[in-house]
Amino acid sequence: MEAVIDIKVIKTEKSKLPGTSLENLPFGKVFTDHMLEVEYKDGQWQQPVIKPFGPISMLPTNATLHYGQTIFEGIKAYRTVSGEPYIFRPFDNFHRFNISAARMMMPEIPEELFIEGMRKLVEVDLDWIPNKPDHSLYIRPFMFATDEAIGVRPSSTYSFYILLSPTGPYYSKPCRIYVEEKYTRAAPGGIGFAKSGGNYASSLLAFAEAQAKGFDQVLWTDAFEHKYVQEMGTMNVFFIIGNTAITPNLEGSILEGVTRSTVITLLQEQGLKVEERPLHIDEIIAAHKAGTLKEAFGTGTAATITPIKELNYKGYEMLLDTDKWTISPEVKRRLDAIREGREADVHQWMFPV
Ligand code: PMP
Repeated sequence: MEAVIDIKVIKTEKSKLPGTSLENLPFGKVFTDHMLEVEYKDGQWQQPVIKPFGPISMLPTNATLHYGQTIFEGIKAYRTVSGEPYIFRPFDNFHRFNISAARMMMPEIPEELFIEGMRKLVEVDLDWIPNKPDHSLYIRPFMFATDEAIGVRPSSTYSFYILLSPTGPYYSKPCRIYVEEKYTRAAPGGIGFAKSGGNYASSLLAFAEAQAKGFDQVLWTDAFEHKYVQEMGTMNVFFIIGNTAITPNLEGSILEGVTRSTVITLLQEQGLKVEERPLHIDEIIAAHKAGTLKEAFGTGTAATITPIKELNYKGYEMLLDTDKWTISPEVKRRLDAIREGREADVHQWMFPV
């Protein structure tokens, strides 16, 4: 892609990198030296600036603080075994960002601003990409309303930022999952398919109650009957029944995960049939009883694949012996190999920095 946008770069006077260990960092706590900032006003995106990471100043009347007009993305940059930096599928996140923007009545962002802004920021903070297996640089683009007035209406001004956070291995231990029937993550016509802050705020109470009962996460079900599975926590979900992998179809209340799409492709390459369709809890229970429920797992950028070792529906326990699994561990192995440049990137998922 040709870089046609002019990005102003103001470098920090003192890098924090020499005092930071890039090993085994907790997720989302450490940020790099720089961030990208762009304002939207008078119907136009202004000049992007890469500047030292620091506070944002705003008045207490900032519209986002009251009405939540805000969206974000989550992407990762890696180094291959030979040390070359790559960003994983950024165009897919770019498309999803604009889908979220349209739903939240926010301005769409031009491709070159999102992609080249991100690439340039990663280039500026290149030394922050950890050079270790399972480590990566998490990229967090986000946009929020900046009008300073109280009143429910779309803002006329916005800010777009990109932050970078080095992260260590996200060890996804097999989870105990509670099938949620009281709370709903998203309903048709709502904002479930958008990556907007409110979806996450409204999910916290369900997580907390499930955790108080001894579970790691919830399996979200549909808003009407609480029977059709949707997502697992903040991940998409797959069930392997016999030789078929089933994941809920995208009908508006499910976020279209980039990892979901990647995993569908890899499963098909491994010879599995993949079905995107409504999946009723009774079908999962029947498969478990018949011994045909082979594997069940969540997918997402943070942890890639999180195995389900127990699914609890109305007190009925479905246990799965994750040690015996072969299909999702192979997906994980191949995905890591592609990201580390050990397996050919035939789908062109890796975008060079
Ligand atoms: N569902 C929800 C609600 C999420 O927040 C995420 C994480 N972005 C996902 C699914 C997985 O999406 P991805 O594979 O793009 O990270």
